[in-house]
Amino acid sequence: MTTLTQVHLAIHQEKNYIAQTYPRPEFVITHGEGMTVYDSDGKEYLDFVAGIAVMALGHSDPGVVEIIQQQAAKLIHVSNLYYTEAQSKLAEQLCEVSFADKVFFCNSGAEANEASLKFARKYAKTYGGPDKTEIIAFTKAFHGRTYGALSITPKAHYQDPFKPLVPDVTILPFNDIEALQDAISERTAAVVVEPIQGEGGINPANDEFLQACRAACDEVDALLIFDEVQCGLGRTGTLWAHEPSGVTPDLMALAKPLASGLPIGVALMTDKVHGAVKPGDHGSTFAGGAVVCAVASYMLETINTPEFLAHVQEMGTYLLEQLQSLNSPRIVEIRGRGLMVGIEFDFPAVDLVNAGYTAGYLLINAGPDTLRLVPPLIVQQEHIDHLIGFFKTVL
Ligand SMILES: *Cc1c(COP(=O)(O)O)cnc(C)c1O
Repeated sequence: MTTLTQVHLAIHQEKNYIAQTYPRPEFVITHGEGMTVYDSDGKEYLDFVAGIAVMALGHSDPGVVEIIQQQAAKLIHVSNLYYTEAQSKLAEQLCEVSFADKVFFCNSGAEANEASLKFARKYAKTYGGPDKTEIIAFTKAFHGRTYGALSITPKAHYQDPFKPLVPDVTILPFNDIEALQDAISERTAAVVVEPIQGEGGINPANDEFLQACRAACDEVDALLIFDEVQCGLGRTGTLWAHEPSGVTPDLMALAKPLASGLPIGVALMTDKVHGAVKPGDHGSTFAGGAVVCAVASYMLETINTPEFLAHVQEMGTYLLEQLQSLNSPRIVEIRGRGLMVGIEFDFPAVDLVNAGYTAGYLLINAGPDTLRLVPPLIVQQEHIDHLIGFFKTVL
């Protein structure tokens, strides 16, 4: 009888003791550094997933590790009943670099959207009356798996088994200005949109569409909510993905990369929205903990420099050029901006994901036919060249 090796043990335990909501490839990741992760056999994988657009500075960034160690040795958690330096400092930094005047801390992207929906309904009820409750969201959107966020994520496979959902949600076609103008009314409390849709296939909102969302919301005093959980914080080459449109929202959800893999979510808001927020309206035991906030401050300071953002733009342009030069008949369309790129193929993207595991790449799809490239923002030309070489071989 053979004994279980480390790798078999971890897989065995997962299959026996973890709820089976995720299919996983048959290797166990043990550590990572920069652009690379390693499995228990010592095999290297070049990581173009980055923990789903999370590890912006790559794996085990020395600065991140140092901040975690320092802050953990000083203070980890006291709850939101008390002031802490790390939380207050991050709040000011986020407001200084965005449209926002106030922030609410939580622990994930879904929670950041839940908070935004709650604050939007509170604002609408306070100033617009009891019937102003409608939430408008769009086809192919992804806002998370909790009930509020799920209710504005119109995918049958995610929604149907869990109905009934939160009521008074209207789903409209994405990027369709006329449909929005026809549907929005005095009953609308909020319009929720991803400036670049992530899970739905890397679909950028047109600038004109975002501008029309802003104008339509203003006309009926509905709040405009941007979900920048995936596209925000430098991923597209600007700090916020909505910047090129010239539009600012009333509320914005952030999460994925903000604390470099530690759980954090933020609902950012204007003072106008905050006018309706009262003590006790919303809360969270863990949110805004000292360690996550210290790391988030470091991330923000590191990413929000002209040099860092220029690097993202430069690598994004290089990646796009290289993908276009593949000139493959199997590529239907290339979409996205900066280091948030989708490649739609005429075959299932999961085939490439699986080929990647064998060849030593971590890849992820976004929808059935689109491969999504969301590498660490520290990616270099040589890593892109590697990936392009792989595409040349498999295509
Ligand atoms: C991932 C994601 C979410 C959900 O974030 P979780 O942290 O998984 O809850 C919400 N919105 C967008 C745009 C996302 O990409």
